[in-house]
Amino acid sequence: MDIQAILEEIEKEVRPLLGEGKVADYIPALANVDPKQFGMAVTLLDGTQYGVGESGKRFSIQSISKVFTFTLALHAYGPELYKRVGREPSGSPFNSLVQLEYEHGIPRNPFINAGAIVVTDSLITHFGDDYTALETIMGFIRDISDEPSVTIDPEVARSEMEHGYRNLALAHLMKSFDNIDNEVRTVVQTYFKHCAVTMSASELSRAVLYLANGGTDPITQHTFITPQQSKRINAVMLTCGHYDASGDFAFHVGLPGKSGVGGGIVAVVPGKMGICVWSPALNEQGNSLAGTRALELFTTKTGFSIF
Ligand code: GLN
Repeated sequence: MDIQAILEEIEKEVRPLLGEGKVADYIPALANVDPKQFGMAVTLLDGTQYGVGESGKRFSIQSISKVFTFTLALHAYGPELYKRVGREPSGSPFNSLVQLEYEHGIPRNPFINAGAIVVTDSLITHFGDDYTALETIMGFIRDISDEPSVTIDPEVARSEMEHGYRNLALAHLMKSFDNIDNEVRTVVQTYFKHCAVTMSASELSRAVLYLANGGTDPITQHTFITPQQSKRINAVMLTCGHYDASGDFAFHVGLPGKSGVGGGIVAVVPGKMGICVWSPALNEQGNSLAGTRALELFTTKTGFSIF
């Protein structure tokens, strides 16, 4: 199968959609990104890469980082982690407060903001302090992408903190239910920093290979998590990776995937490849509009869906 040719076809087919939707302007540092950009990349288990458009341009990974922090927390705590964060779809927007109140401060899953904030808190506790937790997260991302130059955009992190009232509210509410161990500002600041990592579609498609290969990087042979944990993470990506549009993503695309408000989406084809698409304009649920369509076209044209 000529994957490069398929990506080129997809790029042409999604072109009319570029610019439809809205960039995430609630984070001022992201409001000025050109909404018409598009890049898509595939990395096979043997490291072969394909890419179109701006697949080499770094963007703000935002909630895609939640896959990496969930991986580290599951590795650190095992099933104990589920005492503090669930694994059910929320059916609510990613930053919703409503469910948290009547579910006693236990977020539905690690991919909505509240769940990811609990996961970050658990990493700070496990690694002793926020600095070490963040260094461990960055070290992990550099390992799985095999790209030592991956860094955080401090301007994006600062911009989120300045306007982070809702995430701070989520963290305070959870603290009132004793589900945050550390100081609220420290936890939320660390969460914003890992959301502000910048990576390209090609780097991200490489980074998720461990999830396409049962928890072991197929190129370096480094084992990060067990096959069972990898299976679980993929399951949570499938059911919760796109917030209240997760059912729709499974319906149209049929792959475990995780989106971020920077416009990136990663997807995993178990046993075969990692995929990442990036286009900054978002649909109403905060997922890349052209990116979702591109992934739908990819699984339709290749037949590489899990169903
Ligand atoms: N950092 C963003 C926030 O907390 C992440 C949201 C997202 O990518 N869906 O609002």
